[in-house]
Amino acid sequence: MQARRALITGVTGQDGAYLSKFLLEKGYDVHGLLRRSASADVVDARLKWLGVAGKITLHDGNLTDLSGLLRVLQDVQPAEVYNLGAQSFVKSSWQQPLLTSTVTGLGAAHMLEAVRIACPKARFYQASSSEMFGLIQEPRQSETTPFYPRSPYAAAKLYAHWMTVNYRESFGLHASSGILFNHESPLRGIEFVTRKITDGVAQIKLGLETTLALGNLDAKRDWGHARDYVKAMWLMLQQDTPDDYVVATGRTVSVRDFCKLAFNHVGLNMEDHVVTDPRYMRPAEVDVLLGNADKARDRLGWVAETRLEDLVAEMIEADLARLKRHQHL
Ligand code: NDP
Ligand code: GDP
Repeated sequence: MQARRALITGVTGQDGAYLSKFLLEKGYDVHGLLRRSASADVVDARLKWLGVAGKITLHDGNLTDLSGLLRVLQDVQPAEVYNLGAQSFVKSSWQQPLLTSTVTGLGAAHMLEAVRIACPKARFYQASSSEMFGLIQEPRQSETTPFYPRSPYAAAKLYAHWMTVNYRESFGLHASSGILFNHESPLRGIEFVTRKITDGVAQIKLGLETTLALGNLDAKRDWGHARDYVKAMWLMLQQDTPDDYVVATGRTVSVRDFCKLAFNHVGLNMEDHVVTDPRYMRPAEVDVLLGNADKARDRLGWVAETRLEDLVAEMIEADLARLKRHQHL
């Protein structure tokens, strides 16, 4: 029997790497969209880390280039399309609002249009975000909570989200949107606060640094593990009917408490090392996010499996190992 075929945009990102591994283990023929880079060796480092490099087929393409996307989808004819590609860092979206709109917002519209033309039977997943809730309108956010985006990133994601809903309702595409709360792993981009903290703690522990400069320590997030969250993406595309789902742990923790957990893990005190720096503050803040993933539990049978304490430990141990390797410590 022929393997089921999936195409992932953003395959070199954190989630793309974990999703590739998950789908390969399920026997899928995995294809990925790769945007050309002068430093291609660096770009697929995450795929190598997870041991999936060389096991997936990469296609040159960019979310800003509809004709290229059409060609790739026409060639690959995937049964499932996961649109994970994005300018995904909220802070950068104030510096690059139009790029973020083009890649994160219009890029999703390009993908939907390309699917409609080239492979309309394919099932489509859109990587929506809890950032769309922004200035929260309910203490626990679910699929029915009104949105209030607070950054160019969140506004772009909201456009992509509604385009996904509209392509489902207008053209009958099997298009689902996962409203994923923050999820992390050793492969999280180093600029995001969790990875910045675990990398910083590892550097301090090894004597390579003495301080860690952060922004708003009072912000609270509902943090889960990327490995768990890619499973929810896949489950959404296995349903007969496409729909939208919140994916979250249901526990919210402040940046300060995340920091404490991380320093405690290596036997250090956060108070001795963390300084705040206005450079890391944002023009508008999302103070707190807390997801209600009851629908995903009831309809998909999905629950978050990794405790935050275990996630923190895994990320620090990975950063310690990496730094030791590089520094020959
Ligand atoms: P990453 O930032 O790790 O990965 C983003 C991916 O998008 C990379 O592969 C990147 O390629 C690719 N990309 C960027 N610009 C383009 C472009 N113009 N054309 C094609 N590809 C491009 O994100 P994550 O893996 O963490 O997240 C996956 C998706 O889920 C993103 O859409 C993100 O916004 C969304 N999301 C993430 C959450 C999280 O907590 N992680 C929460 C909710 C939503 P390159 O390697 O070349 O830079
Ligand atoms: P986001 O939720 O997608 O914006 O993910 P981030 O990991 O970038 O940020 C999570 C929260 O941590 C936000 O409320 C930030 O304001 C806060 N934060 C505090 N200090 C920092 C920092 O130094 N870097 C980042 N990236 N975020 C920080």
